[in-house]
Amino acid sequence: MKVGVIAVQGAFREHIRVLRELGADAVEVRRANELEGADAVVLPGGESTAIGKLMRTYDLIEPVKKLANEGKPVFGTCAGMIVLAKHIAGEDTVHLGLMDVEVNRNSFGRQRESFEADLDFPALGDKPYPAVFIRAPHIQSVGKDAEVLATYDDRIVAVRQGNLLATSFHPELTGDTRLHEYFLGLGEQKRS
Ligand code: GLN
Repeated sequence: MKVGVIAVQGAFREHIRVLRELGADAVEVRRANELEGADAVVLPGGESTAIGKLMRTYDLIEPVKKLANEGKPVFGTCAGMIVLAKHIAGEDTVHLGLMDVEVNRNSFGRQRESFEADLDFPALGDKPYPAVFIRAPHIQSVGKDAEVLATYDDRIVAVRQGNLLATSFHPELTGDTRLHEYFLGLGEQKRS
């Protein structure tokens, strides 16, 4: 399974390492042609304004939208979740605008720059999922097709909408690979 990891800015190397550990053919993507033949796409954390801007500069917006609309799994983590969202609270900016959610940037912000928390995550089984939040956004509201997978402090921090998956936190920074496996599984379901 070829997974294109958008590598214009942010924590893309860590995603590639986890995906390769799981046996996926993970590749860094900076140009549209590097997405050819991709079965799935990861939008890493970092800084969403920079990632969105560079994706426009490198003509990556339309090819990622096309893959998503073909049903290929797309996983946005932290800034990547903001890039996926249809609405960003208090801003007119939209990057991919694929996921029917409204996100709030830097919501855990000032008081708590970064922290780790064990989340109840029924879709991954009984064992809590250790989540690392770094200047994390949260999801303020979800459209009717989006399914809430996890919350923290009454805030939505993980959502799935069909083949689209988004988390407020950085799943590539913990040793727990269940979320990446879940993401790769969305692709297997699609192909069967
Ligand atoms: N708050 C950042 C943004 O708005 C995201 C932080 C992160 O990805 N760790 O882009």
